[in-house]
Amino acid sequence: MTRIAFLGLGAMGRRMAMRLLKAGHDVTVWNRTPAACDALIAAGAAPADTPAAAARGAEVVIAMLRDDPASRSVWLSAEDGALSAMADGAVAVECSTLTPGWVRALAADCARCGVAFSDSPVAGSLPQAEAGQLHFLSGGTDTVLDRIEPILRAMGAGLHRGGAAGAGTVLKLMVNAFYGVQVAILAEIHGVLRQADLDPEAAVETLAALPVTSPASAMAMKSMLSDTFPSAFPVHLVDKDFGYVVAAAAALGTPMPVAGAASGVFRQAVSRGFGTDNITGVVQLYRAGGPFNSTVLPSGSSI
Ligand code: NAP
Repeated sequence: MTRIAFLGLGAMGRRMAMRLLKAGHDVTVWNRTPAACDALIAAGAAPADTPAAAARGAEVVIAMLRDDPASRSVWLSAEDGALSAMADGAVAVECSTLTPGWVRALAADCARCGVAFSDSPVAGSLPQAEAGQLHFLSGGTDTVLDRIEPILRAMGAGLHRGGAAGAGTVLKLMVNAFYGVQVAILAEIHGVLRQADLDPEAAVETLAALPVTSPASAMAMKSMLSDTFPSAFPVHLVDKDFGYVVAAAAALGTPMPVAGAASGVFRQAVSRGFGTDNITGVVQLYRAGGPFNSTVLPSGSSI
């Protein structure tokens, strides 16, 4: 049993923390909006008022937060950030989807404080988090990854070692670019099927059965036939992640024009009011009379 602090109990974090509790760990929880802690406290977690209070005495501190600003404030806030309260030799595990630049800066701060660090963002969404079937894409030394692997395995089906701190974050952004580009083109294909007067359901059955179609694409394609898009991986997070993808590629000086074009599509979906719909809700841009605006230049689309 390990003393674990879990910071950030959003849609993903609360499911992950519950897996740790069920595995028998001693879990302290903190969330900016305290009500999100209630179900975990009822299941045996200890509440904390601040990230620092949660981190004090923990052997491992795990964060699952929205973005870079949230991560920066939760780890480093001068008032009540987690890092300042962590014991020498404890491990900080950042599971949020962030930028490689910020993650490497956080790793350096941890090293200065005598705290071990891993960036271990996840592939998988709410069903995988609930079932403990996430895939962790991990950066950090083998020593730190050997220490945290048994804990991450309570929440996941696999831990994939990418290299030094920051490597997991690069891998995660590339996974999201790969999936997000597929969802963006599938949404366009739905638009063509409708405009060409094909039966959308029959056409999707055909496309989904072909060897070129991955299981994830087949599922996305089918869910685009629906009129409702209950949020799991919402469009506003996809938009945030594509911003990070395009910025990371630009920082490396390597072009990603296809990802840049997809980024513009998701940005447009947010601005048209579809931000809280699931990723597949981007198809609404292409429905008959849909609001897709081809005159809007997708962000980052130049080579
Ligand atoms: P979410 O439901 O929106 O939860 C976001 C969490 O971040 C909440 O705990 C929220 O606190 C906290 N937060 C936001 N801004 C904050 C701030 N300024 N200071 C402190 N806390 C702040 O998102 P999620 O779906 O759990 O995703 C969490 C992370 O995992 C994101 O980086 C996302 O990109 C990534 N991810 C998501 C999925 C998915 O399918 N949803 C899959 C893989 C990875 P409040 O409750 O107070 O708002």
